[in-house]
Amino acid sequence: MKTIPSLLGGVFAFLLASSCCWLPWLAVLVGGSIAGTSAFSAKLEAFSMPLMALGAILLTYSGYSFWQKKNRMGGTPVMVLKSIITCPKCGFSKTEIMPTDACQYFYDCV
Ligand SMILES: [Zn+2]
Repeated sequence: MKTIPSLLGGVFAFLLASSCCWLPWLAVLVGGSIAGTSAFSAKLEAFSMPLMALGAILLTYSGYSFWQKKNRMGGTPVMVLKSIITCPKCGFSKTEIMPTDACQYFYDCV
């Protein structure tokens, strides 16, 4: 009797974990059905293109974040070269790209 709740828990956890993948689709489906059936249809119809574009953007973003997560866990790690340098004396800070072929010991602020 213990297997069914744990199975349901597993399914729920899977749905939750993969929500980044199906949530945008759900949003597109809900948006589409609302546009088709409700009284707002005429108003929403005008926004159907932006809504679809938003759905596509969300889908692309979720795919990108999934790819990034996958990349972070397996694959080749991506080196972050961007760094915010803050001067300990005057507090001036600037985003700089770290050199990959040299060691940098000195940096002139402002
Ligand atoms: Zn300074």
